[in-house]
Amino acid sequence: MSCKPYDEFIMKYIDGELNDIEQAKLIQHVSECEACRSEFEDLKNVLGALEKSKELEPPADLQTSIMAKVCAIDIYNKKSREKKLMMLYFISTITLTILILSLALIFKNNILDLMLYMEVPVEAAYWTYGVLTRISAEAAMIYGYVLYFKNLLADFYYVFAGLFIIALMSKVYEINGINTVKNGSRVD
Ligand SMILES: [Zn+2]
Repeated sequence: MSCKPYDEFIMKYIDGELNDIEQAKLIQHVSECEACRSEFEDLKNVLGALEKSKELEPPADLQTSIMAKVCAIDIYNKKSREKKLMMLYFISTITLTILILSLALIFKNNILDLMLYMEVPVEAAYWTYGVLTRISAEAAMIYGYVLYFKNLLADFYYVFAGLFIIALMSKVYEINGINTVKNGSRVD
């Protein structure tokens, strides 16, 4: 019995080109011929392994979707950094303004003297002095309200102050928590 035609049948089987009669003949032959059965089984195993590796191949858009996620995280981190910088800038500006204003209010008489000494137009110098005096009066009034509020609430004032600090701290903690999640391994 010659095995030569069955080599060809096996190759055609692998390519999916075997017709029913040829397939019947091949199956009949491999059931009787040890050499051809071994070759046939080996090729079928290889074919199966190839099919399986095709299934395991990542989808074509996987890289795109990963890159999109990486970009999204980058943009988020950048925005969050920008937001923090903006916040820092905002707080610094307010602090600096309050500091300069406080100094100006405390030393408004000296500032008037200095402006007159530096020969700033008298009108401008007194206008500035007037503005500072008015702000000083407003500040004194606000401070008066704060004192009144404090006396009104007596001991509760400290409770409210404590609650405010706790709320502020929990807010800061919350922001940090979100960042930890976004920067961490939770990329799904
Ligand atoms: Zn054979």
